[in-house]
Amino acid sequence: MTGKMQAAVVETFGRPLVLREWDIPSPGPGQILVKTEACGVCHTDLHAARGDWPLKPTLPFIPGHEGIGLVVAIGSGVTIVKEGDRVGVPWLYSACGHCEFCLTGWETVCAKAQFGGYSKNGAFAEYLLADPNYVAHVPAGLAAKDAAPIICAGVTTYKGIKETNARPGEWIAISGAGGLGHLAIQYAKVMGLHVCAIDIDDGKLAHARSLGADIVVNAKANDPASAVIQATGGGAHGVLITAPSLIAFKQGVGMTRKHGTCVLVGLPPGEFPLPLFEVVANCLTIRGSFVGSRQDMAEALSFAAEGKVKADIELQALSSVNQILDRLEHGDVASRVVLDFAGK
Ligand code: NAD
Ligand code: ZN
Ligand code: ZN
Repeated sequence: MTGKMQAAVVETFGRPLVLREWDIPSPGPGQILVKTEACGVCHTDLHAARGDWPLKPTLPFIPGHEGIGLVVAIGSGVTIVKEGDRVGVPWLYSACGHCEFCLTGWETVCAKAQFGGYSKNGAFAEYLLADPNYVAHVPAGLAAKDAAPIICAGVTTYKGIKETNARPGEWIAISGAGGLGHLAIQYAKVMGLHVCAIDIDDGKLAHARSLGADIVVNAKANDPASAVIQATGGGAHGVLITAPSLIAFKQGVGMTRKHGTCVLVGLPPGEFPLPLFEVVANCLTIRGSFVGSRQDMAEALSFAAEGKVKADIELQALSSVNQILDRLEHGDVASRVVLDFAGK
Protein backbone atom coordinates (compact mmCIF):
# COMPACT_ATOMS: atom_id res chain seq x y z
CA MET A 1 0.00 0.00 0.00
CA THR A 2 1.35 3.43 -0.88
CA GLY A 3 -0.03 6.91 -0.41
CA LYS A 4 -0.52 9.48 2.28
CA MET A 5 -2.22 9.37 5.64
CA GLN A 6 -3.21 11.89 8.28
CA ALA A 7 -1.02 11.95 11.41
CA ALA A 8 -0.49 14.05 14.54
CA VAL A 9 3.24 14.71 14.79
CA VAL A 10 5.53 16.04 17.53
CA GLU A 11 7.91 18.30 15.63
CA THR A 12 9.13 20.38 18.59
CA PHE A 13 9.03 19.44 22.30
CA GLY A 14 6.56 21.50 24.27
CA ARG A 15 4.68 22.72 21.18
CA PRO A 16 1.29 21.55 19.92
CA LEU A 17 1.31 18.46 17.70
CA VAL A 18 1.20 19.22 13.98
CA LEU A 19 -1.66 17.63 12.04
CA ARG A 20 -0.23 16.80 8.66
CA GLU A 21 0.14 14.29 5.88
CA TRP A 22 2.69 11.51 6.31
CA ASP A 23 3.68 8.66 4.00
CA ILE A 24 1.87 5.42 4.73
CA PRO A 25 4.74 3.12 5.79
CA SER A 26 5.15 -0.21 4.06
CA PRO A 27 5.95 -3.35 6.06
CA GLY A 28 9.41 -4.81 5.61
CA PRO A 29 10.33 -8.41 6.41
CA GLY A 30 8.89 -9.44 9.76
CA GLN A 31 6.69 -6.34 10.04
CA ILE A 32 2.97 -5.72 9.67
CA LEU A 33 0.91 -2.69 8.69
CA VAL A 34 -2.06 -1.87 10.93
CA LYS A 35 -4.95 0.42 9.94
CA THR A 36 -5.88 2.32 13.09
CA GLU A 37 -9.45 2.03 14.35
CA ALA A 38 -9.02 3.65 17.77
CA CYS A 39 -6.23 4.96 20.01
CA GLY A 40 -6.41 6.06 23.64
CA VAL A 41 -4.62 9.21 24.75
CA CYS A 42 -2.38 8.44 27.73
CA HIS A 43 -0.73 10.95 30.04
CA THR A 44 2.54 9.43 28.78
CA ASP A 45 1.81 10.98 25.36
CA LEU A 46 1.87 14.34 27.10
CA HIS A 47 5.24 13.57 28.75
CA ALA A 48 6.53 12.42 25.33
CA ALA A 49 5.34 15.55 23.53
CA ARG A 50 6.93 17.76 26.19
CA GLY A 51 10.20 15.82 26.22
CA ASP A 52 9.79 15.33 29.98
CA TRP A 53 12.06 12.32 30.46
CA PRO A 54 15.85 11.86 30.41
CA LEU A 55 15.72 9.57 27.36
CA LYS A 56 13.98 11.61 24.65
CA PRO A 57 12.48 10.37 21.39
CA THR A 58 14.00 11.54 18.11
CA LEU A 59 12.01 14.32 16.43
CA PRO A 60 9.75 14.27 14.51
CA PHE A 61 7.68 11.37 15.82
CA ILE A 62 4.07 10.21 16.01
CA PRO A 63 2.85 9.45 19.58
CA GLY A 64 0.10 7.01 20.57
CA HIS A 65 0.59 3.62 22.25
CA GLU A 66 -3.01 2.54 22.83
CA GLY A 67 -3.68 1.94 19.14
CA ILE A 68 -6.04 -0.82 18.01
CA GLY A 69 -6.58 -1.68 14.39
CA LEU A 70 -6.80 -4.27 11.67
CA VAL A 71 -3.81 -5.90 10.02
CA VAL A 72 -3.96 -4.76 6.37
CA ALA A 73 -0.57 -5.89 5.04
CA ILE A 74 2.14 -8.28 6.17
CA GLY A 75 5.84 -8.36 5.36
CA SER A 76 7.66 -11.50 4.32
CA GLY A 77 8.11 -14.20 6.92
CA VAL A 78 5.20 -13.14 9.12
CA THR A 79 3.13 -16.11 10.28
CA ILE A 80 1.82 -15.20 13.73
CA VAL A 81 -0.87 -12.78 12.48
CA LYS A 82 -2.79 -12.54 9.24
CA GLU A 83 -4.61 -9.83 7.32
CA GLY A 84 -7.88 -8.91 8.99
CA ASP A 85 -6.74 -9.73 12.54
CA ARG A 86 -7.54 -7.09 15.17
CA VAL A 87 -4.39 -6.19 17.10
CA GLY A 88 -3.11 -3.57 19.53
CA VAL A 89 0.23 -1.83 19.15
CA PRO A 90 1.37 -1.19 22.72
CA TRP A 91 4.13 0.75 24.47
CA LEU A 92 6.27 -2.41 24.44
CA TYR A 93 6.66 -2.32 20.66
CA SER A 94 9.38 -4.95 20.50
CA ALA A 95 12.29 -6.48 22.44
CA CYS A 96 15.28 -8.67 21.60
CA GLY A 97 13.66 -11.95 22.61
CA HIS A 98 16.94 -13.48 23.79
CA CYS A 99 18.33 -11.66 26.83
CA GLU A 100 17.87 -12.81 30.43
CA PHE A 101 14.86 -10.49 30.82
CA CYS A 102 13.16 -11.59 27.61
CA LEU A 103 13.67 -15.22 28.61
CA THR A 104 12.05 -14.74 32.01
CA GLY A 105 8.90 -12.75 31.17
CA TRP A 106 10.54 -9.38 31.84
CA GLU A 107 10.75 -8.23 28.22
CA THR A 108 9.58 -4.81 29.42
CA VAL A 109 13.08 -4.13 30.77
CA CYS A 110 14.98 -5.55 27.77
CA ALA A 111 17.84 -3.19 26.91
CA LYS A 112 16.86 -3.41 23.24
CA ALA A 113 13.16 -2.74 23.85
CA GLN A 114 11.51 -0.25 21.50
CA PHE A 115 8.55 1.86 22.62
CA GLY A 116 5.44 2.55 20.55
CA GLY A 117 4.67 6.22 20.03
CA TYR A 118 8.12 7.05 21.39
CA SER A 119 11.12 5.34 19.77
CA LYS A 120 8.77 3.96 17.06
CA ASN A 121 5.94 5.89 15.46
CA GLY A 122 2.60 5.32 17.16
CA ALA A 123 -1.11 5.33 16.46
CA PHE A 124 -1.98 9.03 16.34
CA ALA A 125 -2.12 8.24 12.62
CA GLU A 126 -4.32 6.32 10.22
CA TYR A 127 -1.74 3.56 9.76
CA LEU A 128 1.29 2.28 11.68
CA LEU A 129 3.85 -0.47 11.48
CA ALA A 130 4.12 -3.10 14.20
CA ASP A 131 6.18 -6.11 15.21
CA PRO A 132 3.78 -9.08 15.03
CA ASN A 133 5.61 -10.82 17.91
CA TYR A 134 4.67 -8.04 20.33
CA VAL A 135 1.18 -6.92 19.28
CA ALA A 136 -1.77 -7.43 21.60
CA HIS A 137 -4.35 -9.89 20.31
CA VAL A 138 -7.77 -8.35 20.83
CA PRO A 139 -10.29 -11.02 21.89
CA ALA A 140 -13.36 -11.44 19.68
CA GLY A 141 -16.27 -9.44 21.02
CA LEU A 142 -14.16 -6.63 22.47
CA ALA A 143 -14.63 -3.45 20.42
CA ALA A 144 -11.53 -1.54 19.29
CA LYS A 145 -12.51 1.56 21.29
CA ASP A 146 -12.97 -0.50 24.46
CA ALA A 147 -9.73 -2.43 23.96
CA ALA A 148 -7.62 0.70 23.40
CA PRO A 149 -7.24 1.86 27.04
CA ILE A 150 -6.60 -1.71 28.17
CA ILE A 151 -3.37 -2.02 26.20
CA CYS A 152 -1.60 0.64 28.29
CA ALA A 153 -3.71 1.88 31.21
CA GLY A 154 -5.20 -1.58 31.77
CA VAL A 155 -2.13 -3.77 31.54
CA THR A 156 -0.01 -1.28 33.51
CA THR A 157 -2.36 -1.19 36.46
CA TYR A 158 -3.19 -4.90 36.36
CA LYS A 159 0.53 -5.71 36.48
CA GLY A 160 1.19 -2.98 39.05
CA ILE A 161 -1.47 -4.43 41.37
CA LYS A 162 0.11 -7.89 41.06
CA GLU A 163 3.47 -6.32 41.89
CA THR A 164 2.10 -4.98 45.21
CA ASN A 165 1.63 -8.62 46.33
CA ALA A 166 -1.61 -7.55 48.04
CA ARG A 167 -3.85 -10.57 48.50
CA PRO A 168 -7.65 -10.95 48.39
CA GLY A 169 -9.19 -9.39 51.47
CA GLU A 170 -6.31 -6.95 51.94
CA TRP A 171 -6.23 -3.25 51.21
CA ILE A 172 -4.86 -1.49 48.19
CA ALA A 173 -4.56 2.29 47.96
CA ILE A 174 -4.69 3.68 44.43
CA SER A 175 -3.35 7.20 44.10
CA GLY A 176 -4.71 8.95 40.99
CA ALA A 177 -8.15 7.99 39.68
CA GLY A 178 -7.74 9.09 36.05
CA GLY A 179 -7.02 7.03 32.95
CA LEU A 180 -4.91 4.44 34.76
CA GLY A 181 -6.58 4.75 38.15
CA HIS A 182 -10.19 4.18 37.03
CA LEU A 183 -9.12 0.84 35.54
CA ALA A 184 -6.91 0.01 38.54
CA ILE A 185 -9.94 0.30 40.84
CA GLN A 186 -11.86 -2.20 38.71
CA TYR A 187 -8.99 -4.69 38.42
CA ALA A 188 -8.39 -4.47 42.18
CA LYS A 189 -12.04 -5.16 42.95
CA VAL A 190 -12.21 -8.24 40.69
CA MET A 191 -8.97 -9.42 42.30
CA GLY A 192 -10.74 -9.40 45.66
CA LEU A 193 -9.03 -6.39 47.23
CA HIS A 194 -10.48 -3.63 49.37
CA VAL A 195 -9.84 -0.37 47.54
CA CYS A 196 -9.05 3.10 48.76
CA ALA A 197 -8.92 5.64 45.91
CA ILE A 198 -7.06 8.93 46.27
CA ASP A 199 -7.30 11.91 43.93
CA ILE A 200 -7.41 15.70 44.13
CA ASP A 201 -10.67 16.02 42.20
CA ASP A 202 -14.06 15.31 43.79
CA GLY A 203 -15.60 14.35 40.44
CA LYS A 204 -12.94 11.68 39.90
CA LEU A 205 -13.52 10.43 43.46
CA ALA A 206 -17.30 10.20 42.96
CA HIS A 207 -16.62 8.18 39.83
CA ALA A 208 -14.15 6.00 41.78
CA ARG A 209 -16.91 5.21 44.27
CA SER A 210 -19.28 4.24 41.47
CA LEU A 211 -16.60 1.86 40.18
CA GLY A 212 -16.43 0.11 43.53
CA ALA A 213 -13.85 2.00 45.63
CA ASP A 214 -14.66 1.29 49.29
CA ILE A 215 -13.09 4.50 50.55
CA VAL A 216 -12.15 7.72 48.75
CA VAL A 217 -9.74 10.40 49.97
CA ASN A 218 -9.28 13.86 48.54
CA ALA A 219 -5.54 14.51 48.88
CA LYS A 220 -6.14 18.27 48.76
CA ALA A 221 -8.60 18.31 51.63
CA ASN A 222 -6.92 15.78 53.94
CA ASP A 223 -3.47 14.45 54.67
CA PRO A 224 -3.94 11.33 52.53
CA ALA A 225 -1.39 9.20 54.40
CA SER A 226 -3.06 9.60 57.79
CA ALA A 227 -6.53 9.28 56.23
CA VAL A 228 -5.57 5.93 54.65
CA ILE A 229 -3.79 4.67 57.79
CA GLN A 230 -6.88 5.44 59.83
CA ALA A 231 -9.40 3.99 57.38
CA THR A 232 -7.45 0.77 56.84
CA GLY A 233 -6.29 0.19 60.40
CA GLY A 234 -2.57 0.69 59.79
CA GLY A 235 -2.09 1.46 56.11
CA ALA A 236 -2.67 -0.28 52.80
CA HIS A 237 -0.93 -3.61 52.20
CA GLY A 238 -0.31 -2.48 48.65
CA VAL A 239 -0.10 1.05 47.25
CA LEU A 240 -0.22 1.85 43.53
CA ILE A 241 0.77 5.38 42.60
CA THR A 242 -0.53 6.45 39.21
CA ALA A 243 -0.70 10.19 39.91
CA PRO A 244 1.57 12.25 37.63
CA SER A 245 2.52 14.43 40.60
CA LEU A 246 5.67 14.17 42.76
CA ILE A 247 3.90 14.95 46.01
CA ALA A 248 1.75 11.84 45.60
CA PHE A 249 4.86 9.64 45.82
CA LYS A 250 5.94 10.66 49.30
CA GLN A 251 2.32 10.44 50.42
CA GLY A 252 2.04 6.97 48.89
CA VAL A 253 5.04 5.70 50.83
CA GLY A 254 3.50 7.19 53.97
CA MET A 255 0.25 5.25 53.56
CA THR A 256 1.95 1.86 53.07
CA ARG A 257 1.30 -0.65 55.84
CA LYS A 258 4.30 -2.12 57.71
CA HIS A 259 5.94 -4.79 55.55
CA GLY A 260 3.78 -3.59 52.64
CA THR A 261 4.72 -2.71 49.08
CA CYS A 262 4.42 0.64 47.36
CA VAL A 263 4.46 0.36 43.55
CA LEU A 264 5.46 3.42 41.56
CA VAL A 265 3.82 3.73 38.16
CA GLY A 266 3.24 7.45 37.54
CA LEU A 267 6.11 9.15 35.72
CA PRO A 268 6.24 12.87 36.47
CA PRO A 269 9.74 14.18 35.75
CA GLY A 270 11.92 14.67 38.82
CA GLU A 271 12.74 13.06 42.14
CA PHE A 272 10.96 12.67 45.46
CA PRO A 273 12.33 12.42 49.00
CA LEU A 274 12.27 9.00 50.61
CA PRO A 275 12.00 8.95 54.43
CA LEU A 276 14.75 6.40 54.99
CA PHE A 277 14.07 5.59 58.64
CA GLU A 278 10.39 4.90 57.93
CA VAL A 279 11.19 2.65 54.97
CA VAL A 280 13.85 0.67 56.84
CA ALA A 281 12.16 0.40 60.24
CA ASN A 282 8.80 -0.56 58.70
CA CYS A 283 10.36 -3.03 56.24
CA LEU A 284 8.67 -1.40 53.24
CA THR A 285 9.23 -2.43 49.64
CA ILE A 286 9.28 0.38 47.09
CA ARG A 287 9.12 -0.92 43.55
CA GLY A 288 8.87 0.52 40.05
CA SER A 289 6.58 -1.10 37.51
CA PHE A 290 6.58 -0.54 33.77
CA VAL A 291 3.60 -1.60 31.62
CA GLY A 292 3.45 -5.44 31.53
CA SER A 293 4.62 -8.51 29.66
CA ARG A 294 2.73 -10.03 26.74
CA GLN A 295 1.25 -12.56 29.13
CA ASP A 296 0.06 -9.77 31.45
CA MET A 297 -1.47 -8.15 28.36
CA ALA A 298 -3.42 -11.27 27.45
CA GLU A 299 -4.73 -11.54 31.01
CA ALA A 300 -5.64 -7.83 31.21
CA LEU A 301 -7.56 -8.09 27.92
CA SER A 302 -9.42 -11.20 29.11
CA PHE A 303 -10.89 -9.33 32.06
CA ALA A 304 -12.18 -6.71 29.61
CA ALA A 305 -13.51 -9.29 27.15
CA GLU A 306 -15.35 -11.02 30.01
CA GLY A 307 -16.96 -7.70 30.94
CA LYS A 308 -15.34 -7.59 34.39
CA VAL A 309 -13.42 -4.40 33.62
CA LYS A 310 -14.64 -1.65 31.32
CA ALA A 311 -12.83 1.48 30.31
CA ASP A 312 -14.90 4.62 30.65
CA ILE A 313 -14.23 6.37 27.35
CA GLU A 314 -14.95 9.66 25.59
CA LEU A 315 -14.63 9.44 21.80
CA GLN A 316 -12.93 12.25 19.90
CA ALA A 317 -11.43 12.82 16.46
CA LEU A 318 -7.68 12.82 15.76
CA SER A 319 -7.97 16.50 14.83
CA SER A 320 -8.80 17.41 18.46
CA VAL A 321 -5.65 15.79 19.89
CA ASN A 322 -4.10 19.07 21.07
CA GLN A 323 -7.20 20.06 23.04
CA ILE A 324 -7.20 16.60 24.63
CA LEU A 325 -3.54 16.85 25.68
CA ASP A 326 -4.31 20.28 27.13
CA ARG A 327 -7.22 18.89 29.11
CA LEU A 328 -5.06 16.00 30.38
CA GLU A 329 -2.48 18.47 31.61
CA HIS A 330 -5.15 20.31 33.58
CA GLY A 331 -6.90 17.21 34.96
CA ASP A 332 -9.96 17.87 32.78
CA VAL A 333 -10.34 14.38 31.30
CA ALA A 334 -12.82 12.28 33.29
CA SER A 335 -11.19 8.90 32.53
CA ARG A 336 -9.86 8.17 29.04
CA VAL A 337 -10.25 9.91 25.69
CA VAL A 338 -10.08 7.52 22.75
CA LEU A 339 -9.42 8.83 19.26
CA ASP A 340 -12.00 7.28 16.97
CA PHE A 341 -10.76 6.81 13.42
CA ALA A 342 -14.06 5.46 12.09
CA GLY A 343 -15.75 8.85 12.05
CA LYS A 344 -12.58 10.91 11.45
P1 NAD B 1 -4.41 10.98 33.92
O1 NAD B 1 -4.08 12.41 33.71
O2 NAD B 1 -5.53 10.36 33.15
O3 NAD B 1 -4.75 10.70 35.47
C1 NAD B 1 -3.98 11.21 36.51
C2 NAD B 1 -4.88 11.36 37.74
O4 NAD B 1 -4.07 11.72 38.86
C3 NAD B 1 -5.95 12.43 37.59
O5 NAD B 1 -7.21 11.93 37.98
C4 NAD B 1 -5.48 13.52 38.56
O6 NAD B 1 -6.57 14.27 39.11
C5 NAD B 1 -4.76 12.71 39.61
N1 NAD B 1 -3.80 13.44 40.44
C6 NAD B 1 -3.03 14.50 40.09
N2 NAD B 1 -2.30 14.90 41.15
C7 NAD B 1 -2.60 14.06 42.17
C8 NAD B 1 -2.16 13.96 43.53
N3 NAD B 1 -1.27 14.81 44.04
N4 NAD B 1 -2.69 12.97 44.30
C9 NAD B 1 -3.61 12.11 43.79
N5 NAD B 1 -4.05 12.17 42.51
C10 NAD B 1 -3.56 13.14 41.72
O7 NAD B 1 -3.05 10.19 33.66
P2 NAD B 1 -2.83 8.64 33.29
O8 NAD B 1 -2.97 8.45 31.82
O9 NAD B 1 -3.60 7.84 34.24
O10 NAD B 1 -1.24 8.49 33.59
C11 NAD B 1 -0.76 8.69 34.91
C12 NAD B 1 0.75 8.60 34.98
O11 NAD B 1 1.15 7.24 34.75
C13 NAD B 1 1.53 9.43 33.97
O12 NAD B 1 2.67 9.99 34.60
C14 NAD B 1 1.93 8.41 32.92
O13 NAD B 1 3.10 8.78 32.19
C15 NAD B 1 2.21 7.22 33.80
N6 NAD B 1 2.18 5.92 33.11
C16 NAD B 1 3.10 5.00 33.51
C17 NAD B 1 3.09 3.74 32.95
C18 NAD B 1 4.08 2.72 33.41
O14 NAD B 1 4.24 1.71 32.72
N7 NAD B 1 4.74 2.89 34.54
C19 NAD B 1 2.15 3.42 31.96
C20 NAD B 1 1.21 4.38 31.60
C21 NAD B 1 1.23 5.63 32.19
ZN1 ZN C 1 0.32 4.83 28.34
ZN1 ZN D 1 15.74 -8.78 25.51
